[in-house]
Amino acid sequence: MFSSVLIANRGEIALRIQRACRTLGLRTIAAYSEADRDAPHVRFADAAVCIGPAQAARSYLDAAAILLAAKATGAQAIHPGYGFLSENADFAEAVAAAGLTFIGPSAASIRIMGDKVAAKRAMVEAGVPCVPGPDSALPDDPDAIRAAAAAIGYPVILKAAGGGGGRGMRIVERETALMDALALTREEARRAFGNPQIYVEKFLGRPRHVEIQVIADAHGQAIWLGSRDCSLQRRHQKVLEEAPAPGLPAALVAEVGERCAQACRRIGYQGVGTFEFLVEDGAFFFIEMNTRVQVEHPVTEMTAGADIVAEGIRVAQGQPLRLAQSDVTCVGHAFECRLNAEDPETFTPSPGRITRFDAPGGPGVRIDTHVSAGAVVPPYYDSLIGKLIVHGATRDEALARLGVALDEMRIEGIKTNLPLHRRILGDPGFQTGGVDIHHLEALLRGDAA
Ligand code: ADP
Repeated sequence: MFSSVLIANRGEIALRIQRACRTLGLRTIAAYSEADRDAPHVRFADAAVCIGPAQAARSYLDAAAILLAAKATGAQAIHPGYGFLSENADFAEAVAAAGLTFIGPSAASIRIMGDKVAAKRAMVEAGVPCVPGPDSALPDDPDAIRAAAAAIGYPVILKAAGGGGGRGMRIVERETALMDALALTREEARRAFGNPQIYVEKFLGRPRHVEIQVIADAHGQAIWLGSRDCSLQRRHQKVLEEAPAPGLPAALVAEVGERCAQACRRIGYQGVGTFEFLVEDGAFFFIEMNTRVQVEHPVTEMTAGADIVAEGIRVAQGQPLRLAQSDVTCVGHAFECRLNAEDPETFTPSPGRITRFDAPGGPGVRIDTHVSAGAVVPPYYDSLIGKLIVHGATRDEALARLGVALDEMRIEGIKTNLPLHRRILGDPGFQTGGVDIHHLEALLRGDAA
């Protein structure tokens, strides 16, 4: 059982992981880039090692540098956080080969879920509802390809088995466009992901994005911790999330949640994870599984009353889950606003020195951030500088608290998307709840329903 953890990440999640480690009494080692020298998790760490220059390719993505830092500091486990190397099966394997614990699922689990065709097949076998379409890659024979798409019914979507980050997808409206679209998507997939395999599924026109948080231990126990709605997106990037997903029948969510937990047991999944679904006309369709902690995990923590990051570390130590499914009751409602250093109109990044940072407070208000007044937001990484999370006994109470918190919050010196969050809060569709994944972009265009 390990007692020291190297944190191979930066920003708010590095600090979040460190807090969890410290509450568990573990020694923490910060592996940081030259741009993050002054980060609070570096300051609070028991040991800290600079692993390279600011560019992620030469620091947070440099597996050899991270393993060397672990060896030099006597770290026994590595927490990858999200992004960077968190879903890199080769890295998970290298960590294990070095005799260390990778805090996350096995390399084999990461590999299955990183291949969307393999993931879909595993989910179909486990009884998790999937988007209509074959659970295998498209063959080469044009007639067989046309037949597969026709059997689903147009419009369909072509997706790269190795795709990610919203790339490697193409909507096809009619059969005459199918073969050209396939050739283009295949070529893009070959170049971008090194995997030319493409599969086809039904294109859902106005779905919501709903996800289920799971956690599984090494002793065959797996539980789900409620639902999250992450439909407010811009260019496939989540902007504001909530838990639970509003307006869905509790029995339906429970049935899907139970199947997700079952799928974890079936594939021997270990650690925290998220099953992502599109929900249309009251039906769930699995799209992918994320094999790591997610940015939006706090809304589940606030409603389920669990420390998801600490639980993930405990199960990696080989400890049994502290919660049984019957202990999980989701209480109240939570929202999370992703705070980005960006222009609220053009969405261009806005790095620089923060001159003022007034955090809101009061009951049910939580801020997860690594920045404060005087901190510099470097230009090298994604623009997330923190998360404002609020909880209330009801969705209305949480909305009211969010309004006050957004009103109190001030960030100056850089541009942020705080004005965008205030605008969303005033939107009748958001206030009612249950909008689809195109709603935010429609709101930004000025034609929200
Ligand atoms: P990635 O790994 O690139 O994030 P996903 O499979 O999670 O890919 O899909 C990303 C987004 O693409 C979804 O959130 C949704 O907006 C859209 N999408 C994916 N599959 C479908 C589908 N079958 N119908 C409609 N939209 C889809």
